[in-house]
Amino acid sequence: MEKAIEIKNISFGYDPKELILDNVSLTINKGEFVSLIGKNGSGKSTLAKIISCLMEPINGEVFVNGLKVDDKNIDDIREVIGIVFQNPDNQFIGSTVEDDIAFGLENRNINHDKMHELVKKYATLVNMEEYLDKEPGELSGGQKQRVALAGILAIGLKIIILDEATAMLDPEGNKEIKDLLRKMKKEDPELTIISITHDMEEAYLSDRVILINDKHVYKDGTPEYVFSSENEIKSLGLDIPFSLKLKNRLIKEGYKIPDNIKTIEEIGEFLCR
Ligand code: ADP
Repeated sequence: MEKAIEIKNISFGYDPKELILDNVSLTINKGEFVSLIGKNGSGKSTLAKIISCLMEPINGEVFVNGLKVDDKNIDDIREVIGIVFQNPDNQFIGSTVEDDIAFGLENRNINHDKMHELVKKYATLVNMEEYLDKEPGELSGGQKQRVALAGILAIGLKIIILDEATAMLDPEGNKEIKDLLRKMKKEDPELTIISITHDMEEAYLSDRVILINDKHVYKDGTPEYVFSSENEIKSLGLDIPFSLKLKNRLIKEGYKIPDNIKTIEEIGEFLCR
């Protein structure tokens, strides 16, 4: 499988004497939807900033799409990877939705007609085509985050990091973004998504979960593997998804629930069959 991200033996500390990440190595393949979890302050955002080339590790190497992250490759790497942060207000650069989606394209010598076409295409993908002339003040948090994603997709970025991108949104905005991510993955199976999240239900639905604890990758694998011991997860200051708790309880009661039944809705439907 082709690698989207490879990090080899990276260490980092804001104060070099106090490491936040200590000799971390991991590989993320193209097309994976990975959730990065860990208690507050465990270094998830720091790792995301290193992966997206916003910060340099003290030691170790980072490769994005096979390119080593260094001064020589940084421009090429910025054509591949982008990050969406938690606060939707801090990343809206344009004066309107159209300007904001076009912002990244403007620096890329794309002719006016093509640019207009791309803005429209990606605004439509994120269901914001009716809002092209709206200003940020007229949009909800979820709409702003969708515009941020449209901007990233319009310039053809293939690796998207979401750093708690839905944490400040209301449940509706949260659902909009989650649905959109699923739709984006369907449209482009090569798209790699790395989502830092506190939402264990979201992590449970991803392809792979990476749990960061005490400066290291503590556990890395399928959601079923990472969440296999409730006691262990609790001892790390986290909890397993509620839907998995319910499923485990039902299995204990004798229900034979298949692996692919995961959400509360799916469990409900299964029980009503
Ligand atoms: P997480 O995303 O898992 O909550 P962070 O990567 O944000 O963790 O933070 C890891 C540690 O680094 C925390 O102890 C945090 O206080 C510290 N930290 C984060 N950003 C900075 C910074 N800019 N300067 C100094 N320390 C920081």
